[in-house]
Amino acid sequence: EVVNPEVEGDAEIAFEGALRPKSLAEFVGQRKVRGQLQLLLDAAAMQDRTPDHILLAGPPGLGKTTLAMIVAHETGRPLRMTSGPAIQHAGDLAAVLSSLVPGEVLFIDEIHRMARSAEEMLYLAMEDFRIDIMVGKGAGATSIPLDLAPFTLVGATTRAGLLPNPLRDRFGFTAHLEFYETDELVRVLHRAAALLGVEIEEESLREIASRSRGTPRIANRLLRRVRDFALVAGTGATLAAVRAALELYDVDELGLDRLDRAVMTTILQRFDGGPVGLNTLAVSVGEEGETIEAVVEPFLVRIGLISRTPRGRIATKSGWAHFGLERDSAALF
Ligand code: ADP
Repeated sequence: EVVNPEVEGDAEIAFEGALRPKSLAEFVGQRKVRGQLQLLLDAAAMQDRTPDHILLAGPPGLGKTTLAMIVAHETGRPLRMTSGPAIQHAGDLAAVLSSLVPGEVLFIDEIHRMARSAEEMLYLAMEDFRIDIMVGKGAGATSIPLDLAPFTLVGATTRAGLLPNPLRDRFGFTAHLEFYETDELVRVLHRAAALLGVEIEEESLREIASRSRGTPRIANRLLRRVRDFALVAGTGATLAAVRAALELYDVDELGLDRLDRAVMTTILQRFDGGPVGLNTLAVSVGEEGETIEAVVEPFLVRIGLISRTPRGRIATKSGWAHFGLERDSAALF
């Protein structure tokens, strides 16, 4: 699954760590978000206080974790990392919050998957740097207030829409990360190729960039596969080698992967172009609705193969054309 934008495995984590930009200046693209973040950090530094809480929203692999690390690095603060699924009870969150050192940056990945009871504790912690710990049960239960060290929360989510309003409102700044342009991914790849010591032509980098689903994580991963391919074939990373490697890994000219294609052919062939509801689509391709909505759909919409309507997802003209299919107009009558 080279084009799955989610990370898996230790080797992958080590590889990503090695390629992560350490400063905002090294972070490619997302110009607006970078400017906004810089201002937020500068203002906090001038007033000698912890920066406001930051919410980073967008599909996987676009740089949310990297930005959280940069916030800590640029402000010279320690970073604590956890994730929504690891916080199953309010107690899990209390343990993390009560052990933060002053000024620490707390990164919660997939924050929309945190337990409800923890969410409520987080409201108070974000606002007043304070939590109430419940001790005992039933009539004898009491709550003990506990002061926390001031901290900056950086939350990441692929589904900003799933966060309850009171939580969303407590972030001083929300950044919506966008898919990257091909030129930006070329810059990401230049940097990665230099760090990995891969010799590769500009046109080869461009080819990889244009097939990376607008996602730096995928671009870096494809670069590695191309490097391997070129090594084994003994050809060097020529354009022909790039094309052959990508074909071997089932990445088409637009960068669509197997799941993208399964979703497209379901809409086109089973539902004659749609509209199809999200749940029906998820069941038909055997994937979770959340993955379709957070990973597959945003990219297919962005490159104009499908569009969203109140009645469901429909294939666009380009969607039909990319798969060399035509609408069976007879089905309309
Ligand atoms: P997310 O947390 O959104 O899933 P990550 O921050 O883990 O994404 O980024 C995935 C990989 O992509 C990292 O290894 C990082 O090196 C690379 N990357 C992401 N955004 C950028 C960027 N703007 N510039 C350079 N590399 C990036």
